[in-house]
Amino acid sequence: MNIAEKLSTLVKFRTVSSYHPEEEDEASFASFIEALPGLFPGAHAALERTLVGPRGIVYRWRGKNPALKPAIFCAHFDVVPASESDPWGEPPFSGTIKDGYVWGRGTQDIKVQIACILESAETLLSAGFIPERTLYFAFGGDEEVGGRRGAGAISVWFSEQKIHASWVIDEGSPVGQGVVNFVQKPIALIGVAEKGYADIVVEVEGAGGHASMPPKHTALGALAHAIARIEDNPFPARITKTSDEFLGALTPHAAAPYRQIFSLRHILRPVILKAFSASPSTNAMVRTTCAATMAQASPKENVLPNLARAVINVRIMPGTTVAEVIARFNELVAPYGAKAYAKFPEHIVEPSAESSTSSEGWNSIVAAIAEAFPDAVPAPFLFTAGTDTKHYRGITDDIYRFQPLVQTPADLAAVHNVNEKVSVENLERCVRFYHALMNRQ
Ligand SMILES: [Zn+2]
Repeated sequence: MNIAEKLSTLVKFRTVSSYHPEEEDEASFASFIEALPGLFPGAHAALERTLVGPRGIVYRWRGKNPALKPAIFCAHFDVVPASESDPWGEPPFSGTIKDGYVWGRGTQDIKVQIACILESAETLLSAGFIPERTLYFAFGGDEEVGGRRGAGAISVWFSEQKIHASWVIDEGSPVGQGVVNFVQKPIALIGVAEKGYADIVVEVEGAGGHASMPPKHTALGALAHAIARIEDNPFPARITKTSDEFLGALTPHAAAPYRQIFSLRHILRPVILKAFSASPSTNAMVRTTCAATMAQASPKENVLPNLARAVINVRIMPGTTVAEVIARFNELVAPYGAKAYAKFPEHIVEPSAESSTSSEGWNSIVAAIAEAFPDAVPAPFLFTAGTDTKHYRGITDDIYRFQPLVQTPADLAAVHNVNEKVSVENLERCVRFYHALMNRQ
């Protein structure tokens, strides 16, 4: 079976995770785990497998030198829902292979990574390769709903085994083609940091009563002012160590006048921050973003609200804390009688640290990129979404978030959407990347 057929097989299992575990199809998760030995028999014969709880799979590939800290390769095997009634070109759980693509949910996010990691190990094992350092593969089955049962449980297991890794690599940003207009070459975006996440409630209490004799501002009107004030006072833009190194990496490859501007970036910081603030995708790289997403007030047209409440979804820059965000909101909304607090304190994720760009892990990832994606410019990147690596912060020195697939903005639009698919050419590059990375350990 080739790698496309193996991925196709994995896509067929409906491993859709849910915040309500009773809604999950337990049998699909179990069958997915049971299918791996048949697809990757060499890896299963040589590597030790431990099932950690119902949603965690760990493989250990014992290295020759126990003095070296291990490396951990992560991925997740759950997917977000997909409906057959949505306009997919091929059904989402069919795993159809057609015209050089494998179709379906999980082909990009991120069963592809599990298939390619195990395939690379399979190839290296058949050539008699044994790594110097021990390698772990850590696969979780609930990343899309927080990762507590998968990566969370695995991280506890690592702690219990007293395992501290040199570095961790998980899903993340891709080899982006055409993702910025000032660099023609593909950019291998290596996520060295991850933004934090919080849902913040802003609420205003009202007196209620009949809508025929309203006060100047109802609770809802006051809330509208409070939200507008938050929108009108964005967090200050700043260039972190990661963004500075990102611009530094791109400078030699950037078109004029960007090359000149980036090379003078320490003097031209205000100009760069202004330019980045102009579009949502680059704005997210330089500041904590706030999106008002939900609101509720009176249940009836002619009744004044007793309470008006909105939710602001916040993505937090490294170096800022959730407590600072809430304090800032409270200061901004106090004039309207509003207050702010975390909606689900247990779902808060503080921003990550910024990983090293000179570590063993970084150097071998960059070398593997040079082998698998010789045209690409490697660049450190601030990953603006979340990954399972939030659970691994305590058990490793450095975390890297990288998806070894060449992706255009159109390809990226299919993630969590209809028509998720991956080209066979991309699959082969992905295997080459992990092969090169493991071969260096
Ligand atoms: Zn994912």
